[in-house]
Amino acid sequence: GTGTATWVYDFSEGSKEQKDLLGGKGANLAEMTNLGLPVPPGFTITTDACRFYLEHGSTPPDLGDQVTEHLTALEKAMGKTLGDPEDPLLVSVRSGAAASMPGMMETVLNVGLNDESVRGLAAQSGSERFAWDSYRRLIQMFGKTVLDIDGELFEHALDEVKREQGTDLDLDLDAEHLEDVVGRFKAVVREQCGRDFPMDPREQLDLAINAVFDSWNSDRAIIYRRRERIPSDAGTAVNVVAMVFGNLGMDSGTGVAFTRDPGTGEQGVYGDYLQNAQGEDVVAGIRNTVPLPDLERIDEGAYRELRSIMSTLESHYRDLCDIEFTVERNKLWMLQTRVGKRTAAAAFRIATQLVDEGLIDMDEAVRRVTGEQLGQLMFPRFVSGGDATQLTQGMNASPGAAVGRAVFSSEVAVQWADRGEKVVLVRRETNPDDLSGMIAAEGVLTSRGGKTSHAAVVARGMGKTCVCGAEELQVDTKAKRFTAPGGQVVEEGDVISIDGSTGRVWLGEVPVEASAVVRYFEGEIDPESADADDLVRSVHRILAHADGARRLDVRTNADTPEDSARARRFGARGIGLCRTEHMFLGDRRQLVEKLILAEDDEGKQQALDALAPLQKQDFLEIFEVMDGLPVTVRLLDPPLHEFLPDLTDLSVRVAVAEAQGHPDEGNLRLLAAVRRLHEQNPMLGLRGVRLGLVVKGLFAMQVRAIAEAACERKAAGGDPRPEIMIPLVGAVQELEAIREESEQVLAAVFEECGAELDVLIGTMIEVPRAALTAAELASSAEFFSFGTNDLTQMTWGFSRDDVEAAFFHAYLDKGIFGVSPFESLDLPGVGRLVQIGVEEGRSARPDLKLGVCGEHGGDPDSVHFFHEVGLDYVSCSPFRVPVARLEAGRAAL
Ligand code: PEP
Ligand code: MG
Repeated sequence: GTGTATWVYDFSEGSKEQKDLLGGKGANLAEMTNLGLPVPPGFTITTDACRFYLEHGSTPPDLGDQVTEHLTALEKAMGKTLGDPEDPLLVSVRSGAAASMPGMMETVLNVGLNDESVRGLAAQSGSERFAWDSYRRLIQMFGKTVLDIDGELFEHALDEVKREQGTDLDLDLDAEHLEDVVGRFKAVVREQCGRDFPMDPREQLDLAINAVFDSWNSDRAIIYRRRERIPSDAGTAVNVVAMVFGNLGMDSGTGVAFTRDPGTGEQGVYGDYLQNAQGEDVVAGIRNTVPLPDLERIDEGAYRELRSIMSTLESHYRDLCDIEFTVERNKLWMLQTRVGKRTAAAAFRIATQLVDEGLIDMDEAVRRVTGEQLGQLMFPRFVSGGDATQLTQGMNASPGAAVGRAVFSSEVAVQWADRGEKVVLVRRETNPDDLSGMIAAEGVLTSRGGKTSHAAVVARGMGKTCVCGAEELQVDTKAKRFTAPGGQVVEEGDVISIDGSTGRVWLGEVPVEASAVVRYFEGEIDPESADADDLVRSVHRILAHADGARRLDVRTNADTPEDSARARRFGARGIGLCRTEHMFLGDRRQLVEKLILAEDDEGKQQALDALAPLQKQDFLEIFEVMDGLPVTVRLLDPPLHEFLPDLTDLSVRVAVAEAQGHPDEGNLRLLAAVRRLHEQNPMLGLRGVRLGLVVKGLFAMQVRAIAEAACERKAAGGDPRPEIMIPLVGAVQELEAIREESEQVLAAVFEECGAELDVLIGTMIEVPRAALTAAELASSAEFFSFGTNDLTQMTWGFSRDDVEAAFFHAYLDKGIFGVSPFESLDLPGVGRLVQIGVEEGRSARPDLKLGVCGEHGGDPDSVHFFHEVGLDYVSCSPFRVPVARLEAGRAAL
């Protein structure tokens, strides 16, 4: 029955593999416990219990008994009882979900203190001050987190006492003052809640556990999950851990460590340490920390032990670990570890370092990096020069080059970003309430806190540029300005530039240059040369391995020789989509207009004859660049009126001319044509293959241009491989008609040129009917290319040009989907159609070539799906080509 469910696990009962059940923190505490590392004893309440609570609004009936059982065991292990008046056991209650959500959810420390046990703690610790400080921290955290009281009220009460004592510093308050603070905090609780702060330790514990469960659905947690695509129903575990104290004096402290530099991947000792402090003081960046190597001088024993644990953890996890620890009176305690977040550059460097150290193999190295990270490395960076003035240098917390207007609050960041402004969020320090502003900003600048401050950790996780701890800046968020050491004042709206790789901050706009990784792709950096950056070498090795592993080919979407050439340098093996409509813009628009306006066949033919040589020239150049590789040319797709003037503009011009008494004949005819071609739903109107069937000679002209260009390239010794692709087909009859016409044109041109070329003719699968009748289409198509942009539009009935601005925001907010289906393929819907298309198409024609050329061809998650469903290639924009190569390799491993 349900009475036997296990909701609580002791740390000694779990392992790092049980993240889903115990959360990341709980699973890793269990792992460290079982490795024999000094972890304070404790237990974990499972994510199952949280899901039960969120679903039923109450905890599982038997949870209380199980907590009692484990609490009793904990008390036995510690030789103390929770909240005992003589010698109290105190515990922390910490959230920990399966996916890391730094700072998003709640923690309550010092649970078990009350008016009596505070005296026991004072006696046992030998410090009245410490005991009262711990008690006031409990009431403050409990008040905010569990009782939902505005934290400012506690801050005010504390400030009041400080003012009365004539100081700004917590450290100047003695035990008596802190006892006074406790009294005032209790009054705040009474006023705000109409009840007293609970004295019963077990009640404190139970309420804190429920508050952690509730924090799963806090606004900031919801925003974070949406952004990081973490499922909203996973729930959090709760860890109840015996308290250890970093604030017992100068022989105590707390810190954060990384086994490698999470910014660059370099090996060494990285982290921050703060003497006489409790955990949240470090992460909140409230006081300035010392670099971790200084701990050697402060407490050599603890430092040595920490270094040895760091190397144990690194070889055990075979990866960079981050660590939170506390030193209580020279005794080291491990409070947390996990495989650490890192920047994109560090991810690549660390992956190949670990290979070289024999900890992982190349397959694993490819799995350890992502296409998204590679994409980040392709962003441009700052170059020196320009007329920006450097204001200061802070810490390089998260790399990248951000330029934008300085804003001093999250609200303004969001407002300005919504209206299209680029902004840099400037704060003294950030806290989880700043999350929406950080998302909206190009970058984040803070004046306080180290590389492990909230701003730094969250920005790195998001791949957002961040400079933190720029201590020389006087940030005044109320007055919306900051002052640099040189006296310059930067006001809200002034443009600043921040460099997350060096920590530099400038007034004004600093020019940017291409990234080293892009220059490597461009062939400007030789990865084998001695002076190549080790990042470039890592990227080169990892991509080479991914290329060897992948089954999917990667092509590009390109319609100019320049884009085609770049894509080829970036590793594209051909063109999967050459959109010919882009070739009809600019000067040639006039010719298309003539074609549309022609009143008889002769006029039409003249317009087509004028366009033909220009089209041919386009193809000649592209075939040359892509010599030896397939080039899929798509025949004209968009509605014709896209080449004509806007109806309203033209109507106004005609009306004005008439009113002025000199009507323009040409414009009048044009207006008539625009009216004739006007469509209410042009995306569902006269476009794609429909155009080819209705506008006589149009597709034939394009096919002739393709064939003539191919013959000419061949005659010149080239190896052109054109493929002709027909868009927006929904019925095999459409395809047959265009195929027949195209084959005649091809045969005629080959006869004229005395050449013979194999030109595949295929179709896009863009309307649901095409996917559903794929077997029939395959009888007349040598290849399919899934046009997942239109297929998404038509499957959902979402206008791709309108909905993202109109209502996707609301859809994302309501969780109807976690990510736009135009960005990442909707697998159950659109993906299902792709799968039907693949299966039916291949069953009718086993050697059918299959690819995708919608935007999804460069989206990491979608690439994995295309691999699984058995496509031959993906095609994406030139800058996504390396990303697709990597993800195709990862999908195959
Ligand atoms: C598509 O619809 O997916 C496609 C590639 O064509 P376009 O984006 O040009 O409509
Ligand atoms: Mg399309």
